[in-house]
Amino acid sequence: MNLKDYIANVPDFPIQGIQFKDITPLIGDGKAFQYATKQFVEFTEEIGANLIVGPDARGFIFGCPVATQLGLGFVPVRKPNKLPREVISFSYDLEYGANTLCVHKGDIKPGQRVLIIDDLLATGGTIEATIKLVEQSGGIVCGIAFLIELEDLNGREKLEGYNVLSLMKF
Ligand code: AMP
Repeated sequence: MNLKDYIANVPDFPIQGIQFKDITPLIGDGKAFQYATKQFVEFTEEIGANLIVGPDARGFIFGCPVATQLGLGFVPVRKPNKLPREVISFSYDLEYGANTLCVHKGDIKPGQRVLIIDDLLATGGTIEATIKLVEQSGGIVCGIAFLIELEDLNGREKLEGYNVLSLMKF
């Protein structure tokens, strides 16, 4: 199966000059979604992760099925003012705009082996912030998995020393 057949390229969204990779055709197709999930599940087993962490919002879509298939917990990393209890937060720049991400204090336990899953690696800001939140919580980032990597944006440079999987490169 070629997963690239299930990604729609949308020019100039959400702003001029951005080529948006729309993942909704992939998750709308049961076989393609299952195929992508299977690869994430295999990676999770290979690296011995025991917790899945996913950033708001598309990290939830890909992280949760992996967690349930393996009987692991899932911890959401969310945008500000979404989590009701005390949080740890981190701010960063996006390919377009800026953002802050938060995680509930205590949701990630010291020493837990974490796989971070997100839909797409662009500049790497989102994932760098997520790594910081996991590590500040005491978790060990033993892997990072993306559906898509946009190679021209060099996000991987921010991930040196980490075990990174991307299912598709553009
Ligand atoms: P970054 O922090 O620059 O690596 O951006 C990553 C996040 O922004 C991803 O989780 C995507 O959801 C979103 N994103 C950034 N650029 C794109 C793009 N060209 N197409 C679709 N989503 C994008």
